[in-house]
Amino acid sequence: MLQGRRIYLTNAVLLYLLNVCLASQCGYQSCNPVKEGMINVHLVPHTHDDVGWLKTVDQYFYGDKNDIQEAGVQYILDSVIPELEKDPNKRFIYVEIGFFSRWWKEQSDTVKQRVRKLVDEGRLEFILGGWSMDDEASTHYNAIIDEHTLGFEFLRDNFGECGRPRVAWQIDPFGHSREHASLFARMGFDGLFFGRLDYQDKEERMKTKTMEMIWQGSPKNLGSQSDLFTGVLYNGYGPPGGFCFDVKCHEDPIMDDPNLHDFNVQQKVSSFINATLTWAESYATEHVLMTMGGDFNYENANMWYKNLDKLMYYINREHAQGGNINLLYSTPSCYLNQVNKANLTWPSKQDDFFPYASSPHTFWSGYFTSRPALKHYVRQSNNFLQACKHLNAFASLFGPTNSNGIRVLKEAMGVAQHHDAVSGTEKQAVADDYALRLYKGVNACQSVLENAYKTLLQTDKNVNFPEQSFCDLLNISRCNVTEGNEQFTVNVYNPLAREVSHWIQLPTNAKSCVVTDPFGKQIVSQIVPITNETKRIPERNGSVAENSIIFMATVPPLSSSIYFVETNKGHDQDTKPLSFKPNEDITINNTVLSATFDGTTGSLKVLKNLQSGATAQVDHRMQYYISHYGNTTRPKFQGSGAYVFRPNQSEPMDFQHLFQIQTKFLQGQLVQEVRQQFSPWVSTVTRLYNGAPYLETEWTVGPIPTKDGIGKEVISKYCSDLQTEATFYTDANGREILQRRRDYRSTWAFNNTESVAGNYFPVNSRIYLQDVKKGVQLTVLTDRSQGGSSIQDGCLELMVHRRLTTDDFFGAGEALNEKGSDNQGLVVRGKHYLLLDTIERSAQVHRDLALKLYMKPVLSFTNSQMKHSDWSKYFRTQWSALASVVPQNVHILTFEVSDQQDSKNDTHKHFLLRLEHIYEKEESKVLSNPAKVSLMNIFKGYEVVSAKELTLGANLDLNELHRLPWQYKSTYDEDSDKSNLNSDAKIMRKSQSFPNFNEYLLDNLTIILNPMEIKTFQIALTNSG
Ligand SMILES: [Zn+2]
Repeated sequence: MLQGRRIYLTNAVLLYLLNVCLASQCGYQSCNPVKEGMINVHLVPHTHDDVGWLKTVDQYFYGDKNDIQEAGVQYILDSVIPELEKDPNKRFIYVEIGFFSRWWKEQSDTVKQRVRKLVDEGRLEFILGGWSMDDEASTHYNAIIDEHTLGFEFLRDNFGECGRPRVAWQIDPFGHSREHASLFARMGFDGLFFGRLDYQDKEERMKTKTMEMIWQGSPKNLGSQSDLFTGVLYNGYGPPGGFCFDVKCHEDPIMDDPNLHDFNVQQKVSSFINATLTWAESYATEHVLMTMGGDFNYENANMWYKNLDKLMYYINREHAQGGNINLLYSTPSCYLNQVNKANLTWPSKQDDFFPYASSPHTFWSGYFTSRPALKHYVRQSNNFLQACKHLNAFASLFGPTNSNGIRVLKEAMGVAQHHDAVSGTEKQAVADDYALRLYKGVNACQSVLENAYKTLLQTDKNVNFPEQSFCDLLNISRCNVTEGNEQFTVNVYNPLAREVSHWIQLPTNAKSCVVTDPFGKQIVSQIVPITNETKRIPERNGSVAENSIIFMATVPPLSSSIYFVETNKGHDQDTKPLSFKPNEDITINNTVLSATFDGTTGSLKVLKNLQSGATAQVDHRMQYYISHYGNTTRPKFQGSGAYVFRPNQSEPMDFQHLFQIQTKFLQGQLVQEVRQQFSPWVSTVTRLYNGAPYLETEWTVGPIPTKDGIGKEVISKYCSDLQTEATFYTDANGREILQRRRDYRSTWAFNNTESVAGNYFPVNSRIYLQDVKKGVQLTVLTDRSQGGSSIQDGCLELMVHRRLTTDDFFGAGEALNEKGSDNQGLVVRGKHYLLLDTIERSAQVHRDLALKLYMKPVLSFTNSQMKHSDWSKYFRTQWSALASVVPQNVHILTFEVSDQQDSKNDTHKHFLLRLEHIYEKEESKVLSNPAKVSLMNIFKGYEVVSAKELTLGANLDLNELHRLPWQYKSTYDEDSDKSNLNSDAKIMRKSQSFPNFNEYLLDNLTIILNPMEIKTFQIALTNSG
């Protein structure tokens, strides 16, 4: 008995020790050994699973609609797991958590245990780990961080530290953004691999063995924190020719019985050795990463592994005869670890990999604009998601909440960031599916918001809070509540940690109205007639509104304010035509800007900033490029398509020769409007609001006529007298600004064979020109991602909409031809915001405005007939979460409920909080300085009981992060903020880790944020009354 018990104890101890050993086997120490002095070929079995492209994400998962594309993700995972279990040497990587999490949900506990074991032993490794492999050109940093956080959260919850991805894997996106590298570095990745870069750039890098480098993601602002080892893959993400052993590939297997016909071992071995030697020539170490997989590969994993086993056997067998090529099963992180051990000094890069060209007439700069309505819906959904997370988090401190609704939108947004989703390069049916997912997510989040308002605004528990409605179609002046009721309330939630004055525009049939603010005070409003161009938008079908009510809501930081509207009351606050003498110039102005229009043509002529005195001649016009009509017979016949932009001539077309531009001027108490029609399907309304530092231009484009069989790509162009010397500036994913020079790339001698498309760059939030001599800057902000350029000095252009008649033959299999709800061609509407100021003052205006544009107040409505005096008896008219205003240069990027706890007994409510410094160094005299924020005092009525700093993806304590160090040569000159290739003074640096939270923490949980820094915290809050 006693002995038996002792045995039991011993077994328990053994089991414990065994578990400890197993738990420590993942990561770099789990890699298969390499052979020093040989060329080590890291065979990386992988599958590239698009979360939607030719089929929807569901169809890909199940393997439905295989007539479109043979692909079923569930079968891939079903097939790989048993193959890995058969042999401890085998490896597999998995990337898209949007797919993996679905498969995981369907598995039994036994299968989950088996998979956990493979992960713990490093045999199944998660790479990248985002919900999808996101697009880099049209994504916004807020959504990029969120979609990676969502994937990381799944991995951490189910696999712990062994599930934490160490390498970023962007093998398919069409060009690469520097901001991505910077964000990835701060997510804790040790390296990044990708497949696509400009063909001229690649040729050069192959010759000079610079396929691998240290990418300085934020050389000016964040320094080594944003350095990231970056490797370009040799063959996209495919294997060498003849070595794709997937069931889809139809390439020869290895037939190794010499007694049978078709014995091909010698031929296969020599061909593989040749491929290896060719690949190895382009890389600096004795290691070669070979991507053994492709799109939706490994549905029959045995087929791949059986042939790779044979290849490995026959090549490694040669070692005895002096063969020096060593094959091993590996992963990108195992390869990276060996490259790191080589201890070389690496070259560096400070700009980005845009635009991507795959041949002289194939610049992938069309997708910067493709599907502009989807691009806007994604941006708008991000805005709504953040508001939803805020209000749910605040409400959670008072009672139960429903995070499930938020999850639906988070997952829809995760899928939408994919490189064939927001990019606009999917089939039409798949684009419709993405939009439907977002719609369902937004709907689910609307219920969350409604519950939160009940909790936060109700003061008398006996009176039900009125039902909330959300008007999703306000941008085309359609809203049932405001059109169908004489009296209604507008609830305005401001998701920014700064006071916002927001112009609200609501459709109505009334000719007069009275608007009351949260304090019971009547405020100024204006009635503006809805344009005829708006009335003909088919998606507006059913709306009866003839007018818009305009008023300004001023909402405190992170607050909700109720406005009361009564229509057909009060005086007419009509908008009247502006009186002017025919053919004489017309000037409209407010206290900041004055804009002069030509009396004959109606065109914008002069812009003047009345505060700084900056003046420029500025002309605005809508134009279009005629798309090159393509076929596949020769590369020079490349056409414009969903991916590629290729105009058939470098000059855009004016509408004038077809149509006399019509201009109308309207004025009222709050806003002045200039309405212009450029053609029957292109119009703009330019607005100057009281006190606004910008001129807002709303463009309405479509249906683009294609009955003539010709594709058209519409631009909005601003031309000025500024001297700009072929230079302009664009943002990267809404954050740092990159300098662009026409017909120039900073790391190779660029031969531009497409004078327009080769100069197009992604614009996520802004593009600008500077006249250094005059000290004047012209900036245009956008409401979505678009392609933009400066094709002539002094001019800026943004592509707003495109409709094409041919495919560009990169797989979509159909022309980009959005037809809209009436099948006649989609009408798209959006806004540009034009700023003119001194260079010195401009950043302060565009940084602040860009933030306000992507994080607008969220509106909801009730048809309550209560006046302010009645409402305030039962409900709050204003609710605010903020104690002290955070500094002007700080943005609360994330605030949401976290399911993580500090310890098992921890009963506090936890939150994820990200704070961001929104300025770059030296952009603004005052606001580029470091900012000080006290976490303790940030929220009203709540006390912070604990705080710890995490990596940007919120999956690791920052203290526990140890990134691989690299030595590199930097050609970056800090004084000029430019790479200087001719400079001899190369700086040798080792990349550093992050500063320790405890080292910089001041009293009262006060932290310092440096320019462009984002800090991520898990905080616990209690309600202090
Ligand atoms: Zn892909």
